[in-house]
Amino acid sequence: MNFSELNLRQEILKSITKKGYLEPTPIQAQAIPAVLSGRDVMAAAQTGTGKTAGFTLPILEKLSYGTLARENQVRALILTPTRELAAQVHDNIRQYGDNLQLRSGVVFGGVKINPQMKALRGGVDILVATPGRLLDLYSQNTVRFKFLEILVLDEADRMLDMGFIHDIKKILKLLPTKRQNLLFSATFSVDIRNLAKGLIHNPIEISVTPRNTTVEAVNHFLYPVDKNQKTAILIKLIKDLNWEQALVFSRTKHGANKITKQLIAKGISAIAIHGNKSQGARTRALTNFKSGEIRILVATDIAARGIDIEKLPQVVNYDLPQVPEDYIHRIGRTGRAGESGEAISFVSYDEFDLLKNIERLLKQLIERKEIEGFVPTTALPQSKLDTRPFKPKKIKTSRPKNKHQNQKSFKKKTNRYNTRVKKPAKSI
Ligand code: AMP
Repeated sequence: MNFSELNLRQEILKSITKKGYLEPTPIQAQAIPAVLSGRDVMAAAQTGTGKTAGFTLPILEKLSYGTLARENQVRALILTPTRELAAQVHDNIRQYGDNLQLRSGVVFGGVKINPQMKALRGGVDILVATPGRLLDLYSQNTVRFKFLEILVLDEADRMLDMGFIHDIKKILKLLPTKRQNLLFSATFSVDIRNLAKGLIHNPIEISVTPRNTTVEAVNHFLYPVDKNQKTAILIKLIKDLNWEQALVFSRTKHGANKITKQLIAKGISAIAIHGNKSQGARTRALTNFKSGEIRILVATDIAARGIDIEKLPQVVNYDLPQVPEDYIHRIGRTGRAGESGEAISFVSYDEFDLLKNIERLLKQLIERKEIEGFVPTTALPQSKLDTRPFKPKKIKTSRPKNKHQNQKSFKKKTNRYNTRVKKPAKSI
């Protein structure tokens, strides 16, 4: 298929050509006509599939025909879970909408609110926002939705994971009931379906990334290793195999900082990206990594989620993720858009239960390899595939009693296989 068959106007096609895209990705081929049709859309698509253009291109097309946004008003609202994703989606809108008269804006927390208030004053046709900051701006009368035509929830599963459900529900109440709703999510869990019930009407459903496709496309394996040998093995791999660049996942912010320091001490340029870093520091880290100046980016799951890095040859799970689904999100960062890549996990004895859950979710055992000199003293037990179906996890959605409690409370999430306690998103 060709982009010119998708009923997009010349101005948009010109920008696509400038980006160097030759043909629509499968999600784009399906989502663009679906959004243009005016129907609600539910799409299962992960980062890396081209989903952003899948909704931004038809939104630009549709909005380019109507009346431009009036003061403080928004015509299309795109909600994203993280600041990084918000900034990226907005970048895409700017690039794709380069030849149009539409105005766009992006708002997220962690930076001053005043410039955002100013930017919204004249109205924007498309606003990309994280939920918390959007509500702050609304309460200050700087944004209004009277003429809202389209709502997008991008990475809806992650928004629920990060505890945004109450903010999302509050936002929904502020919007006109007659609007087009687009819901993009990596997975369609029970929680997502519940959210969709009250939101989406008679949708066109699109699924281009069945869960295991990503896994099959990626060459992934693990090294059983003692915990205290993980940094040494990482350094050995980077040096011996002369890795150009790698994204290394650490379970904790503290761990990410420590790994980064140890790499730098061995002369390997590295930088950590996590929630304790300021927005400026995160953006700088990402820019330096993208430009190739930095060789290793060490990230926590949430900080890494949605960051747009092309052609990532190596992904390393320094620690296995606590939530098995995150394994798929992580290794999906390699081998993107047709490029081949490699995802390597370092698994120590105490992570065996996590490994079992991941293998159960994948419905396959992960290949094990060994490196001479790094055979663990405490052996990693042999796994046996658990074929019981994996029940989708439930998120507690009890409404907090007051705003203060909402900000301070910790959300507890449980499922049959693991229990974790996670801070709400805004602090991450
Ligand atoms: P996304 O899944 O939206 O995060 O996009 C992943 C990457 O694919 C981004 O770097 C896009 O610039 C790129 N991309 C999106 N659409 C296309 C396309 N049709 N052809 C080639 N690359 C694309």
